[in-house]
Amino acid sequence: MNTSSPRSGRLTVLRAAWLYDGVSPALTPDPVLLLVGGVIAAVGPPGGVPEGADVVDLGAATLLPGLIDTHVHLAFDASADPVGNLAGRDAAAALAAMAAAARRAARGGVTTVRDLGDRDYLTLALRRAAASDHSLPTIVAAGPPITTPRGHCHYLGGTAAGVSGVTAAVRERAERGVDLVKIMASGGHLTPGSRPELPQFTSEELRAAVVEAHRHGLPVTAHAHGVQAVADAVAAGVDGLEHVSFMTAGGVDPAPDDLVKAIARSGIALGITLGAVPVEGAGLPPAIAAAMPALMANARRLHRAGARIVAGTDAGIAPIKPPDVLRWAVGELPGIGLTSAEALHAATRLAAEVCGLGERKGRLAPGYDADILAVDGDPLRDLAALHRIRAVYVRGERLGAFREKR
Ligand SMILES: [Zn+2]
Repeated sequence: MNTSSPRSGRLTVLRAAWLYDGVSPALTPDPVLLLVGGVIAAVGPPGGVPEGADVVDLGAATLLPGLIDTHVHLAFDASADPVGNLAGRDAAAALAAMAAAARRAARGGVTTVRDLGDRDYLTLALRRAAASDHSLPTIVAAGPPITTPRGHCHYLGGTAAGVSGVTAAVRERAERGVDLVKIMASGGHLTPGSRPELPQFTSEELRAAVVEAHRHGLPVTAHAHGVQAVADAVAAGVDGLEHVSFMTAGGVDPAPDDLVKAIARSGIALGITLGAVPVEGAGLPPAIAAAMPALMANARRLHRAGARIVAGTDAGIAPIKPPDVLRWAVGELPGIGLTSAEALHAATRLAAEVCGLGERKGRLAPGYDADILAVDGDPLRDLAALHRIRAVYVRGERLGAFREKR
């Protein structure tokens, strides 16, 4: 909520050729948006220009809601060794690197990020800074993910054991002021010795985490690869699942039919891990590359069954996943059966709802935050238009001239 900005009452009239509003599966021609400070006050056909308003005409561009990445790690620097590099940074250095990552996300059209794992609750400091610094995206923060002793991402400091330990860990997060709780239901790939195919917590521990989080009004999203961890998390009543890969020790299981149906019925938000920027000499780890067709097939079945799918990228964990990787992930969503309109909706309106920001973000409509991406071309016909960025507005302020580097 930016009420402290001296420019909060500034009027801007924004014109362009087309508008995607986050909901409608068709573009609207000749939009005129009236921005008052950081909020969209009106969307409509040309009316009079209010006195004192800046008029910005973006010509042939298409306006759409700023993109929302539901799964990033600002603390990881998208290098070949994000874990080692983070370990080498003290809090001040880590925070500076995180701010730089967040700014790069915004320049790439990602005006809201949900951070699903930091160290020392550093994202909360950045979230505060974003209230007055409009070069930063809006940040939704989980703090350190809850994991088992020596479990996946234990080095981020969020270890807990047993029902009482997990409950206390959730309470600590609520007291710190996180926006949601992230729990590592299975092992993962960034942690040597961790087994993605195996559950980390008992179903009682997962259930305890959900009960305590909901008692504080916080949603829970669970990192879950293997079938058992996915099933346990669903049974525990989580609000979101990350990855949902159904990976085994040597490959990928077909997602069990009853579990696919249960997930679709539950309305649980699925963060399918997509998005890879072409980087010379870097790519997916060979095991994951080999598993990709089976992973995509599972995701396609989940989509067909009616599951709510968003594109969480895991930005930061590798060179192919820089902070602004989301627009590549959106381009990959048709690979699991989404139409272009569904893909854009997943990265705007739906992602906003999943982040608990459905009242403020993800739409270009009166009353919504003026988080706006302007691109050349029609993203409904060609999602690659998302790479042709003309302008980005973060809560009503235009970011400095964007230079396309790729
Ligand atoms: Zn992650």
